[in-house]
Amino acid sequence: MSIICTSLFELFKVGPGPSSSHTIGPMKAGLHFRKLVEKLPDDTLEHGSRIEVHLFGSLSATGKGHGTDRAVTGGLLGWTPETCDADALQQLLSKEHEEYVISIRSKKIFFKSKHIFFDKIKHPYPFQNTLIIKLMGERKVILEREYYSTGGGFLQVKGEPPKAVNKPQYPYSNMAELKKILEQQKISLRDLMMTNEQSLTGLSWEEIDKKLDHIIDVMEHAVENGLKKEGLLPGPIRLHRKASTLYKMAQSSLLEIPDRFFVFLDAYALAASEENAAGNLIVTAPTSGSSGVIPALLYSHKHYLKKENRILREGLLASAAIGFVAKHNASISGAEVGCQGEIGVAASMGAAFLSKIAGCSIQVIENAAEIALEHNLGMTCDPIGGYVQIPCIERNAVGAIDAYNAYLLASTGDPKKHKLSFDQVVQVMLETGRDMSTKYKETSKGGLALCDIYC
Ligand code: SF4
Repeated sequence: MSIICTSLFELFKVGPGPSSSHTIGPMKAGLHFRKLVEKLPDDTLEHGSRIEVHLFGSLSATGKGHGTDRAVTGGLLGWTPETCDADALQQLLSKEHEEYVISIRSKKIFFKSKHIFFDKIKHPYPFQNTLIIKLMGERKVILEREYYSTGGGFLQVKGEPPKAVNKPQYPYSNMAELKKILEQQKISLRDLMMTNEQSLTGLSWEEIDKKLDHIIDVMEHAVENGLKKEGLLPGPIRLHRKASTLYKMAQSSLLEIPDRFFVFLDAYALAASEENAAGNLIVTAPTSGSSGVIPALLYSHKHYLKKENRILREGLLASAAIGFVAKHNASISGAEVGCQGEIGVAASMGAAFLSKIAGCSIQVIENAAEIALEHNLGMTCDPIGGYVQIPCIERNAVGAIDAYNAYLLASTGDPKKHKLSFDQVVQVMLETGRDMSTKYKETSKGGLALCDIYC
């Protein structure tokens, strides 16, 4: 079996909401295509008259609500997910006939919303979220690429071999192998994850810590920005933000202690998720749709339980190990396996985060992750109107509390008496996802997406 060669910062990515597979992946595709066009010789480039973008599968079904058209346009304009201006991104394509100039050396290619085609939902391509981008001449295609947005902002390009990456010092492909290395090498989970990251990326441990601190900062900002804002989220659902109301309630003396902690947690999860729904900057953990679960747990541990960044970083490393195994052996894409791959995996990563912060063993970390995912199996992805709002925002709050409960369940009793492994439940998630009808995989053609809502 192939080994896991994913970097921490491919899993935890900064980018604009609301959906990593519909926003970050397509923006990367637009940028990748632009770079290919930049490499064309002048005498080929001069024949280019327009760029066409074809969206398939879930990108076609819910791409409007998820802002895929704006994201891919941003990429074609040279924007990157980590550095783009989220407000400017929101404004792209807001006027139907507005023309954007894609300037490559002295060549100007004009681009409008009519050049984006919401194509077939059922299609022959190997991944649900497929985009095809073409540079057209007057009569023929000059350049064409097929892209697959595979979830969590990861992108594959047809025909392009995966980038050659260094091998991790401690190779593993699943949880069983990871545990075996920890035991045989007598190494801590933190040291294994840091050593592997160093061998994959060439970064020093100090640099990795610094980048993890940046991830923590962006997660905190998403929570804090969301707690301050009120009013309607974008889109036709007219959903009101609720995080600040919950936060004020948690701060008041109206609630008793246990309720208060959970209402704070709900407020933090809603805050980050509402920022995601508004298209602002968040961290994929593992995806944008599920980007409220870990920030809520992290924020509550930093501000309510006063945990230092050193401890939080260890928690993130444990959660990354779980995210890597889930992504490598199944999927973290709602379009591939439903919401079990997004909120289910986020809850599982969150349970590992909490267990690690509490100083639990690798066996408890695994059990906590297994419990969290087990009880999210079969969860469908059916966002109303294609907007990452209902059920997504509240689902992050529920996912954070699931993570908490899974950690509590796993950390009591003898962990060796636990009956299921994380690898088993990941396999079940994959098989359940394969059996799930396409209408429950981010197409908004079934489930909650068909409900009439109160306006
Ligand atoms: S229902 Fe779940 S998987 Fe689907 S868009 Fe919402 S958060 Fe993502």
